[in-house]
Amino acid sequence: MRRTQVGIIGAGPAGLLLSHLLHQAGVESVVLECRSRSYVEQRIRTGVLEDGTRQILQRAGVGERMMREGMVHGGIFIAFEDRLHHIDFPELTGGHTIVVYGQQEVVKDLIRGAAGGGWGDLVRSRGGAHRGASGPTRHRLPVPGRLGGAAGVRLRGGM
Ligand SMILES: Cc1cc2nc3c(=O)[nH]c(=O)nc-3n(C[C@H](O)[C@H](O)[C@H](O)COP(=O)(O)OP(=O)(O)OC[C@H]3O[C@@H](n4cnc5c(N)ncnc54)[C@H](O)[C@@H]3O)c2cc1C
Repeated sequence: MRRTQVGIIGAGPAGLLLSHLLHQAGVESVVLECRSRSYVEQRIRTGVLEDGTRQILQRAGVGERMMREGMVHGGIFIAFEDRLHHIDFPELTGGHTIVVYGQQEVVKDLIRGAAGGGWGDLVRSRGGAHRGASGPTRHRLPVPGRLGGAAGVRLRGGM
């Protein structure tokens, strides 16, 4: 049986980023996910990342594709009574912008960059077949969401 220091429930952006940050701090973790890799990588949700999220992802070393392929957005126009009003984000927020980049792309970047290994080494999904360090493996969590170990963390994050 594999032992780990921290168990994280859910391979969403919050769980994957926490696992990545723990790895950088020298703390081992495993992420337990009840869905398949293709599900979490394709689930469309957030399309806009706030500046704080951009900064965290860049500092963690997983923001390179986001900055290359994402669209940095400095404002919007609102049409009101036949006039366009420009809402200038940097001017109104002391320099902050947003990045248009899908949450599913963040998840892919975190899985690829995570803990030096990727999905098979990082995530245990219920019943999902995936490739681990020693070849294809199949994992089944006896009770989804229950974990024996030093610490289990269930996360609710935001993007
Ligand atoms: C339709 C939609 C549109 C959105 N648009 C925006 C937006 O424009 N801007 C914005 O900032 N935010 C938006 N959000 C919110 C954003 O998607 C969430 O803030 C973000 O997904 C939270 O990340 P998370 O990692 O905490 O949770 P999630 O992304 O929900 O990930 C949790 C993971 O845990 C897994 N899981 C749950 N229970 C268990 C269990 N018992 N055992 C194992 N695995 C489990 C789930 O399968 C999932 O993969 C939107 C959300 C939705 C649904």
